[in-house]
Parts: sequence; C-alpha cells; structure tokens
Amino acid sequence: MHLAHRVVAAIGGPHPSVSFEFYPPRGPQGEAALMRHLDALEEVAPDFVSVTYGAGGSVADRSAASVRVSRAICAKAGPALMAHLTVVGHTREELETIIGELTAAGADAMLALRGDPPGGPRAPWTPAPGGFGHAADLVQVMRAAGCDVGVAAFAHKHPASVDTAQDLRALAAKEEAGAAFAITQMVFDAQPYADLVARARAAGIGLPIVPGIMPVSSADQVPRLEGFCGAPLPATLVAALRRGEGDRAAEAEVGAAWAVDTVRDLLQAGAPGIHLYTLNRSRLALEVCRRVGLRGAALLEAGCDPPLGITTHPQSVKVR
Ligand code: FAD
Repeated sequence: MHLAHRVVAAIGGPHPSVSFEFYPPRGPQGEAALMRHLDALEEVAPDFVSVTYGAGGSVADRSAASVRVSRAICAKAGPALMAHLTVVGHTREELETIIGELTAAGADAMLALRGDPPGGPRAPWTPAPGGFGHAADLVQVMRAAGCDVGVAAFAHKHPASVDTAQDLRALAAKEEAGAAFAITQMVFDAQPYADLVARARAAGIGLPIVPGIMPVSSADQVPRLEGFCGAPLPATLVAALRRGEGDRAAEAEVGAAWAVDTVRDLLQAGAPGIHLYTLNRSRLALEVCRRVGLRGAALLEAGCDPPLGITTHPQSVKVR
C-alpha cells in the first residue's frame, strides 16, 4: 500500500526521524546485497530510506536503475521511500516522465537536486538544452506533479558557491518553490549544522533541516569525504583514524564512536531527524543507531524506546 506523506510526517513528527541513504547498485548481486542490508536495518524500523540518482551512465540507464531499485524497495512494504532526482542531462519532459515512473514505483517523496557536471561540483555548470539550471526549478515541477519534496542544504559552503549567503538564497528559493524539508550534505560535527540552522532561521527560512551523517569506516575515505562536504574533517577524528590505520576494526570503531557522539550532539541541538549515508552497507549505520538508541517512529510509538543517551559506548574519540 502506498502511504502518502510518510516522509514529511516523519520529519515533522514528535520523534527525530531516522533514515538511510543508498545508491542504485550495479547488477543483480549488488541489488540482492542491498536488500539484505535493508533487511538488517529493519531492526531500527527507519522512517524512510532514500535512493540516490546516479551521476554517471546514460540518461536512460540512470533513470532505469533508480526506478528499478525504488520499485524493489517499495515492494518490501517497509519504510517509506524518498527518491532522489537530478536535472543533469535531462529536459523538462524527461524529468516529468521520470517523476511519474518513480511515483508509480511507490516513492513517497522526492529529493530535488541539481546534481553536478561531469567534472564535479566545482566544474562550470551548463543546464541541458530544454532543461533546468537549478534545483528550485525541479522542486516546482515535482510540486506540480503532487509530490512531497525535499532539497539539499550545505552546512559548509557548497563548493561552487561564493559564500554561505549564496547558499541561503538558493535554499530560500527552494523553499519558496514548495520544498517541505532539507537534508544536509554530510556533517562530522554538530556546530556547523547548528550554525546553518541559525543562519537559515535568521534569513526567514523555516524548513526543517535534517543533518546527514556518515560514519567513517577507514582513514583512506578522508580525502573523498572532504571533497563531498567541502571542508576538512575534524583534526581529532582524522588523527584517531590514522592511529588505527591498517586495522579495519579499530578504524571502524573510531568512525562509529565519532558518529555516535555527533548524532547525540545533533539531537541535542534540536535536529528533527538523522539521515545516515550508508554506502549500501548496514553494519556501521546499525551500530550507530543501536548505541544512540535511535529508532523509527513505529518502534518508538510501540513503546520499544530505549531513551536517547542511555546506551553507552566503549570509547569517545571527541575532545569535549
Ligand atoms: P542548487 O540548489 O541548484 O545549487 C547549486 C549551486 O547553484 C549552488 O552553488 C547554489 O548556491 C547555486 N544556485 C542555486 N540557485 C541559484 C540561482 N537562482 N542563481 C544563482 N545561483 C544559484 N547528487 C547526485 O548526483 N545524485 C544524488 O542523488 C545526490 N543526492 C544528494 C543528497 C543530499 C542530501 C545532498 C546534500 C546532495 C546530494 N547530491 C546528489 C549532490 C548535489 O547534487 C550537489 O551538491 C550539487 O552540486 C548541488 O545540488 P543542489 O540541489 O543543492 O543545487
């Protein structure tokens, strides 16, 4: 059964929402593995999961992969699905068709994104002929199709923006176009998130802003993650990862402990939910949820509620 508005209801609800992000895997084996990880994550009954929209491949391949994985997830009748979509390489008509296909697959909400040019977020951006220049344009098309829409926000400046004021103008335009919530690029500390929320509120932006969290599993991920989030990772985290370098279990423990502390700080700062980037794996994401006591609303309302902050974890790598 397709339950409408579940994503918006979870983010605006009385409990912090819990969500996990996946990407469309390549091939049937990857899809089977994704389904196993989803099953494992059911332990915390996430409020929704999201499926990214591929940056590479042909236009047809990208939409086919996204629709196929979305349909498979929705068929499990578990958490609600938020489907990402980008304007990269698409005309308006193509986007309207894909929105229709994702809705038919069972998507409950969509994340409207511009996406990046092939050279990455800093490369010059040119809209596709007959397409759109900014995510706000896609928000309008999705809203016209009756979708609940979320958008991206950046705690650290977007790599191509001149300053955070430009980011705020873009976020305000997306809210004005009809977005109901925003999810941030990954953060590794609560303060940049709290600063973003404060800037947004001062600018009159009222959207709930959910922080994105990625538990780091190894030191060699650091350069790539810094590229994504547009800022250096905290020096204490990087130093702790380097101390454990080569010992996968030690590195993962550092990443998990750091993420646990960050999630707690974010919830204390008033975050309306936590969005976990999983890289299509369940172990670390699940570990973080267990240690914090993070549960989806279905479990919390059923009384299966270890209060936040009660669980303990073996070590804290953060200097407080
Ligand atoms: P926009 O809001 O359009 O902003 C892009 C740039 O243009 C910014 O510098 C902004 O300040 C500027 N801008 C916006 N509007 C205007 C305007 N009217 N005038 C002048 N400048 C303007 N990428 C993928 O390819 N697939 C995914 O599935 C995906 N999922 C993501 C999920 C999350 C939660 C996040 C945070 C990012 C995701 N991305 C994804 C990455 C995203 O596509 C890139 O970060 C992209 O560079 C920016 O997208 P946006 O939607 O914020 O674009």
